[in-house]
Amino acid sequence: MHKSDYRCLTQVKTSLAIKPVTLSDLVRANKLMWTYSRDCYRECDLDPASILLPSDYSVSLVGTRMHCTRCGSRKIKIEMTPELHPSGIVAMRSR
Ligand SMILES: [Zn+2]
Repeated sequence: MHKSDYRCLTQVKTSLAIKPVTLSDLVRANKLMWTYSRDCYRECDLDPASILLPSDYSVSLVGTRMHCTRCGSRKIKIEMTPELHPSGIVAMRSR
């Protein structure tokens, strides 16, 4: 008999006031990062699991490690607020 060992997603209990939000926090919470180029206004939803940075990397610092694929700007704004739409802000707006 094969018993599947699946787990339901549970709410991430993070104290945002104490500890910075990390990439792994977003992955656990199943959130996307909304990124925004201050120079060309391109916005993009990124899967935090696809970012090639340590999982304990602070999300607020991720923007300093990225650049815009369209204009090359390093002025990237990243939002990771809890109210982000699970499938991404861009997908939500295109409806
Ligand atoms: Zn840009």
